[in-house]
Amino acid sequence: MDTTFIASRPSGRTRRPKTYRADRVCTDFSCQTILSRYNKRDACHIHAPVKFPRIRGRFEDDE
Ligand SMILES: [Zn+2]
Repeated sequence: MDTTFIASRPSGRTRRPKTYRADRVCTDFSCQTILSRYNKRDACHIHAPVKFPRIRGRFEDDE
């Protein structure tokens, strides 16, 4: 096995922000919203699946 190319990787040298392709559009069929390069999702903020945190009455301290 040739292990020449797995020797050393320059890691932690430059910390680039994680970016994505700039020409992506929302996965919604009828949506043409161009996604931000920093948007890790495949849909715009309208069509991206939203998690609803279950905070309803959770932090209410009613006896
Ligand atoms: Zn969309």
